[in-house]
Amino acid sequence: MSSGDPLPVSYAEMASEARAIAPGLHFLSTPIGAARDITLRALDLLAGADVLAAEDTRSLRHLMEIHGIALGGRPLVAYHEHNEGQALPRLMRALEEGKSVAYASEAGTPLVSDPGFGLARAVIAAGLPITAAPGPSAAICALTVSGLPSDRFLFAGFIPSASGARKSFLENLSSVQATLILYESPKRVRETFRDLVEYFGSDRQAAICRELTKRFEEVSRGDLGALAADLEDREVKGEIVLVIDRAPERQATAETVEVALDKAMETMSVKDAAAAVAEAYGLPRRQVYQMALERGRG
Ligand code: SAM
Repeated sequence: MSSGDPLPVSYAEMASEARAIAPGLHFLSTPIGAARDITLRALDLLAGADVLAAEDTRSLRHLMEIHGIALGGRPLVAYHEHNEGQALPRLMRALEEGKSVAYASEAGTPLVSDPGFGLARAVIAAGLPITAAPGPSAAICALTVSGLPSDRFLFAGFIPSASGARKSFLENLSSVQATLILYESPKRVRETFRDLVEYFGSDRQAAICRELTKRFEEVSRGDLGALAADLEDREVKGEIVLVIDRAPERQATAETVEVALDKAMETMSVKDAAAAVAEAYGLPRRQVYQMALERGRG
């Protein structure tokens, strides 16, 4: 997150006293670049919660400093994928004592390719209150500027780096009837585009959304072939989201659906195979499930 452009007056000047925060867990979203993208409700939570928790405590302190929010004597607990065993019981104890806990990721929205899922599950299982103060997420920001259809989309997180996992990940996504949103490292993006051309074809429209909300924000739009060719000649730096158009609708004849079902049933249960094929061909699940049952019997 850039430190420039905080609010014109600090939060401490605007809010004469911290608002009382209800007991329970409160997730809050933080800027993905521009410090001004923090919401007033997120600042209320940071100023008023009994306990603060963060994926990265240094980034949270920095964000609070920018907005003039003092930690005071309140605990600031690190909670990330490597310390869940210690941090989770500590946060749960505070919540069971009726305290309010505000949790922030290093940037963007918790749980979106970031920690928080285990905490949310534990709080829900314990029947304790949970809320979210929504705000920035690179995935939604990229979808908004991509120029690709936004009526139906699938966020699929980071593309795996190991070659086997990567292959099956891309193969599975290639027939999805929804705009795809992926996070990618700039170090791997060139190789990724070569793979995308292989699995999705060169004609599929896509957008590379780089450094969103930051000074060098850039969106490159085009078909996969042209974007891949362009990447062969240049270095890409910064943070990246890829947005890819949905698969072209396939014409479903009885024969093609049967072939797809037979293939899917080699590796999946009848139910899962029917669901996957129905999705790929835009057919009713019940109809494809009946076909799958008949083929399974035959
Ligand atoms: N929870 C975050 C969210 O809601 O966007 C995502 C965290 S994930 C660990 C970090 C990835 O998000 C980066 O590798 C990049 O793919 C994407 N990202 C985060 N900030 C971005 C930005 N300003 N521009 C483009 N991509 C960004």
